[in-house]
Amino acid sequence: MSTLPTPTPLNFDVLIVGSGLAGLSAALLFPQQYRVAILTKRAVREGSSGWAQGGIAAVWDKDDSFAAHVDDTLVAGAGLCDLKATQFVVEQAPQAIAWLQKLGVPFSEEDGQLHLTREGGHSARRIVHVTDATGAAVQRTLIEQVRQSPNITLFEHHTLVDLITTAKLPAAQRGAEGSNHCVGLYALDDETDEVLTFQAPHTILATGGAGKVYLYTTNPDTATGDGIAAAWRAGCSVQNMEFIQFHPTCLYHPHAKSFLISEAVRGEGGRLLLPDGTRFMPQHDARAELAPRDVVARAIDFEMKKAALTACTSTSRTSRWRLFKSTFPISMRAAWSWA
Ligand SMILES: Cc1cc2nc3c(=O)[nH]c(=O)nc-3n(C[C@H](O)[C@H](O)[C@H](O)COP(=O)(O)OP(=O)(O)OC[C@H]3O[C@@H](n4cnc5c(N)ncnc54)[C@H](O)[C@@H]3O)c2cc1C
Repeated sequence: MSTLPTPTPLNFDVLIVGSGLAGLSAALLFPQQYRVAILTKRAVREGSSGWAQGGIAAVWDKDDSFAAHVDDTLVAGAGLCDLKATQFVVEQAPQAIAWLQKLGVPFSEEDGQLHLTREGGHSARRIVHVTDATGAAVQRTLIEQVRQSPNITLFEHHTLVDLITTAKLPAAQRGAEGSNHCVGLYALDDETDEVLTFQAPHTILATGGAGKVYLYTTNPDTATGDGIAAAWRAGCSVQNMEFIQFHPTCLYHPHAKSFLISEAVRGEGGRLLLPDGTRFMPQHDARAELAPRDVVARAIDFEMKKAALTACTSTSRTSRWRLFKSTFPISMRAAWSWA
């Protein structure tokens, strides 16, 4: 029996490219009367979101404050953060956590309260988490919600090729609105090898970062900056490309792909050691292992180059071993399997 060709163009009210936490949340926040399409270039779970381990920073403890969280962020951002954006994100964080809780994300708890871990650069315990697999747990919940939403259609294995802007269309098809604007996109369907035309008055690019431009990175293979490039080709201004997400601590093994040892491991007392057992962070920064990522990464790089090392070690005090196993089961399992 022959299958019918996919009708093209595909019409929606909103197109969202990317099925990470940004794309899935955006889709769920539209009212039900909007017909929303989510396109994603691999399976729905692939991307950075599923790899996020440590958790989400939010002022939750009664002794913590927005002012302290903003200050910590500005210090960790070495004075380069946009103050208004920082304040906005910090002040919205508790509401965002409450929304995720309402959707059913099973955040780790202790004595009936959210359990908060600590990470480098933070002066207080404010990391809400689901053991050390936070991103995967949040994404799982959002995917369930998306699948239950009749107004949202998910297109897996559909890769954005380019955005369709009115300036690229023949004059007769440009419509009445004068300025150049986006009216849809072309996407490659991996299964059929066909390029499909999707149309919508609104398109959201939630295609993640470009960390994969580096040979060694904890970022997944999907982080290739496609959406940023498509936006640039469509005439959008692009900024802050020098800021690439990175982690100072990964599991080192010649045959293992770079695997993140969560930031929160240092927050819970993990120490960085040279192969002979010497702790080195206190010589580089008064905050030692709790210094922000750039400081820790520079210190590790300095020590490794000084002694021509291929790796340094992360360890913890044995009295906290049980807490480590329950808080970081994924990191511990990965470390043991390659040990
Ligand atoms: C190992 C690791 C650990 C992390 N830990 C934390 C943490 O503890 N706390 C924290 O706050 N953040 C953490 N992060 C960062 C966090 O994961 C990201 O900031 C966040 O998940 C980004 O979400 P996103 O939806 O923007 O992007 P992503 O989750 O990367 O989603 C991008 C989506 O776009 C799709 N896509 C890309 N190009 C195309 C295309 N051309 N066509 C169609 N689809 C496309 C991808 O397939 C993917 O579905 C971590 C990141 C990594 C890699």
